[in-house]
Amino acid sequence: LLTLMFAVSVICSSMAAHGASRYADSLAEADSIRSSNPKRFMEILADLEKRKAEATKLESQKLSYLQAYSTIYKDRLDDGIKQSIRLYERTKDVDLKFRAGGLIASLSAITRDFSAGLPYVHSTLEMRGKVRDKKIRNDGINSAAMFYNQMGQYSLGLKYANEVLGNSPAPRVKCFANSVKLESEQALGTLNPSHDSFDTALAGCLKLPELIAASTLRATHARHLAKTGQVDKAVILLEQEALPDVLATQYPRLIAEIRSLLGELKLRKGDLTEAQEQAGETIALGDAIKSTQALVTAYGTLYQIAERRGEAGQALALYKQYAEAEKAYLGDVKAREVVYAMFDEQVQQQSKQLEFAEKNLELLRRQQMLERESAQKTRLAMVFLMLMLAGIIFWAIQIKRHQSQLQRLAQTDTLTGLGNRHFFTLKSERALVDAARAGEPAALVMFDLDHFKAINDTYGHGAGDWVLKQVGKTCSSHCRKVDYLGRIGGEEFAVLLYGLDLDTATLVAEDCRSQLAQIDTRECGYSFVVTASFGVSSTAQSGYDLSRLLSHADQMLYRAKDEGRNRVCAYSAEIAADSKSPKRSPSLSVVGS
Ligand code: GH3
Ligand code: MG
Ligand code: MG
Repeated sequence: LLTLMFAVSVICSSMAAHGASRYADSLAEADSIRSSNPKRFMEILADLEKRKAEATKLESQKLSYLQAYSTIYKDRLDDGIKQSIRLYERTKDVDLKFRAGGLIASLSAITRDFSAGLPYVHSTLEMRGKVRDKKIRNDGINSAAMFYNQMGQYSLGLKYANEVLGNSPAPRVKCFANSVKLESEQALGTLNPSHDSFDTALAGCLKLPELIAASTLRATHARHLAKTGQVDKAVILLEQEALPDVLATQYPRLIAEIRSLLGELKLRKGDLTEAQEQAGETIALGDAIKSTQALVTAYGTLYQIAERRGEAGQALALYKQYAEAEKAYLGDVKAREVVYAMFDEQVQQQSKQLEFAEKNLELLRRQQMLERESAQKTRLAMVFLMLMLAGIIFWAIQIKRHQSQLQRLAQTDTLTGLGNRHFFTLKSERALVDAARAGEPAALVMFDLDHFKAINDTYGHGAGDWVLKQVGKTCSSHCRKVDYLGRIGGEEFAVLLYGLDLDTATLVAEDCRSQLAQIDTRECGYSFVVTASFGVSSTAQSGYDLSRLLSHADQMLYRAKDEGRNRVCAYSAEIAADSKSPKRSPSLSVVGS
């Protein structure tokens, strides 16, 4: 007995362990059987609710979806809609959000609360591209298609049913999508099917079995048969196939559709009793079918029966009910249309606003780009102008430099760096004008190197050049700022001494002569003596005319050469007087030897 009890306890505990499966697994199981096995589904759901503490955030959202779904079995669809809307708004999981949207579509189609469901159906469809799981995607689109058909928006129902059918759906979804497709085509008047398409679609639904979809298919088929004059076939289909199955669905609106259609067809065939029976059963469904086409048809059938039977009073009463039912039905149709039109208008407004905002944004973007471009262009232009300006300035400086270089070249003797004959003449003439104006005296000293040719010939041209440079340097150091020293010929130099009279100028020339004689020539590689012969003239004797001063100084220079070189001869008052007299006097003013 003990052994037996142990064995039982082991089995029980292992069963318990098996029962306490992972939360995620239980969720998946409940989900998979939610429509095929409602009883087991509700049991697992109750267990999951108890164990809610174990759930992660996403798992508790999945539980919330199943709870919303379960309201189908509890007749609390409004709660289900609210719960799925809450889930739709809250969850970040794309697939779950999409499923919640599909559930909103299904539940609001059943409650016929289209205005509540429509926005969610619309936005759910918009996100279908982001849903990776094909089954979930097809389920959701299919729910939307059914929603639109229920709402009377058959072309949308058809569009989405076709989308599902083109996306290789699973058998159950395919069965519903086919029924939506054929129903919407029938309503739109575009149906021209071979019997095949109804038969295959029906076979697919019966295999599952999916009786609601199968009944919808049969009702659509019967309507089509009746419309094309095949009343007998339609009656057989409704009576023998559709009616038994639709009763099993316990779905009042669908039962009403089959019964009212059957009643109408029986009346056409003259079977008044059967017609009355079906119409009566339809009306007996009560509030569940108010504002439906079926109710209108049923009253229509009844008043016509009364009419045929000659029951005028009864016929009138039934006709009144018929008219009322029709009014309610048309009102419902109208209301659905209004709901859709209003929503459609809103969506279009929003998309227009969005388009407008996008256009504005694009305009703004373009404007910014243009502004950037023009700023860049301005910057470029500025840089270009600056470069131009810099170029011009550089160019001007170069020209200026070049000009002054040319000027210097034109004025300067390149060997000695002294002013050349031209520059000397220019400067001296100006200085003489100034001196004349100021009443100041001025003197001119001219000198020529002695036997310079011999220096060139004996020591070479290089030594000759060296001597010329040294002579320039030595004499410059004796000049003041106001004096002008220039090289006026090959080995000929001249100085204009501003403010000096003849005697002082003669002393300066003498000083210069002795300095030249002291030049140490060893630096150029040879040892020899450099001497020069000097001629001096002054404004007192020659006036302020440069050419006269030059001419008189030149005369004196030649006199110095004649008298033996290396000496200074001045154009004194006596010489001046003498030169004017016809006879030449030898009274020269010679300084040094
Ligand atoms: P005098 O005492 O009579 O003046 O004799 P001189 O040899 O100095 O005079 P002459 O006119 O016969 O010779 C002048 C020489 O000066 C001839 C020429 O070759 C030389 N000479 C002129 N210019 C330069 C120069 O730039 N460099 C050198 N090395 N020699 C020059
Ligand atoms: Mg000479
Ligand atoms: Mg000479």
